[in-house]
Amino acid sequence: MRLVLLGPPGAGKGTQAALLSEKLNIPHISTGDLFRANIGEETPLGLEAKSYMDAGKLVPTELTARMVADRLAQEDAANGFLLDGFPRTVEQAEILEKMLSEKGQHLNAVVNFSVDEDTVVERMLARGRADDNEDTIRTRMQVYRNETAPLIEHYGAELVTINAVGDIEEINAATLKALQAS
Ligand code: ADP
Repeated sequence: MRLVLLGPPGAGKGTQAALLSEKLNIPHISTGDLFRANIGEETPLGLEAKSYMDAGKLVPTELTARMVADRLAQEDAANGFLLDGFPRTVEQAEILEKMLSEKGQHLNAVVNFSVDEDTVVERMLARGRADDNEDTIRTRMQVYRNETAPLIEHYGAELVTINAVGDIEEINAATLKALQAS
């Protein structure tokens, strides 16, 4: 199964992705985690991505897309994957479609985790990651509204929308059920 998870920062995509990845037996590919691993290892990619991430801005698409293409080319992603954090813009969605179609592949579903803005800001402040201060959060929400939210319309009828406010296990169960029905 080839899945994309969408939702505002702080929607709990990472948490849900980890559960789904285990239950569906597909690798969880998080662009945020890949960038953070590169920053930790001080790779050239990490060094370039860091300033954008610290400011709450998007890392340039060319860099991000290359990283995703490399990851998708690994063997464990040959039969399915769960993308978390990519695509984040309509341009990235088009790049992903091209990457997949060149391999004769397509997405099976796009899951949209829906959460109100007050809840996500509260969650991010509570989790306290390096880029979770108030200014950066405000920038990321703005980037979400301007760049990422248009993906909801882009995917249209392909979208499976899940209410992501509530109990973690219940949200996971609702997602699995919706995926079975999709
Ligand atoms: P969150 O879901 O809380 O926004 P992520 O871990 O998904 O956190 O992303 C953290 C940061 O990594 C983003 O603010 C951005 O700087 C960078 N990033 C992640 N995915 C992408 C992407 N697809 N395109 C550009 N930048 C990205």
